[in-house]
Amino acid sequence: MKNLFDLSGKRALITGSAQGIGNLLAKGLAAHGAEIIINDKTQARAEQAAQLLIKMGYHAVGYGFDVTRSNEVKQAITNIERNEGPIDILVNNAGIQRRYPFTEFPEEEWDNVIEVNQKSVFLVSQQVAKNMMERRQGKIINICSMQSELGRKTITPYAASKGAVKMLTRSMCVELAEYNIQVNGIAPGYFATEMTSALVNDETFSAWLYQRTPAARWGKPEELIGAAVYLSAPASDFVNGHLLFVDGGMLAAV
Ligand code: NAP
Repeated sequence: MKNLFDLSGKRALITGSAQGIGNLLAKGLAAHGAEIIINDKTQARAEQAAQLLIKMGYHAVGYGFDVTRSNEVKQAITNIERNEGPIDILVNNAGIQRRYPFTEFPEEEWDNVIEVNQKSVFLVSQQVAKNMMERRQGKIINICSMQSELGRKTITPYAASKGAVKMLTRSMCVELAEYNIQVNGIAPGYFATEMTSALVNDETFSAWLYQRTPAARWGKPEELIGAAVYLSAPASDFVNGHLLFVDGGMLAAV
């Protein structure tokens, strides 16, 4: 009963975690005892971020690979499990945003958003889940969004991809639950990060956000840590296929 949120002895891979929400989640899981694998597109960025965690007294190592390239993903997961040990927790966090009106959306940018936000969840989870199934244990957390449920002008592929990640979460749960693997999603509301900097700097947008969100403010990325620790820990062992909204009440309001 006491160790419901203890991650000691667990190893967590967080994709796209050199900065932003992924980086905060890495620090949060580390603070609860997990060993951390930082991932980003380049080895240099991943290593740099891992070094910062090591300076904070945590166990961390960086692996640079592009989550959209199946060969890189396969090689990296093999290397991580051989060199570091089993991946107990996978957080599919890497994501990008592109903004154009729907009728002007360049096809190439559509493909980029779908590849990073949606296909990567399939590619990385597939490799990690195979090994989790053999061990009959694992936690997978997919970072979803308000746009898993709600549309918004100029970000059609983002919403399409995050809606798909919601259904990937449920479908993966249905196939993997009997192997004692829990697959859940965290759906953040609006958080001030590099990805949302254009919106944070837009006073009209912030004014709309304060009025639209019952909590009347931007979320702070560290406010996502509790949800990630819960969904990584024994406390959530019978929670599966669930989307946990951390949104200051936005989804509850008209
Ligand atoms: P961010 O600050 O832009 O961080 C995203 C990270 O993903 C970056 O480090 C980026 O690396 C990495 N990345 C991008 N493409 C990659 C690839 N192909 N392979 C490996 N890493 C890659 O964004 P964030 O705001 O922290 O968002 C993190 C997640 O939360 C995303 O899935 C996003 O959709 C979701 N989310 C964010 C908010 C919000 O309000 N911020 C709300 C809802 C959901 P580079 O910088 O090197 O490209």
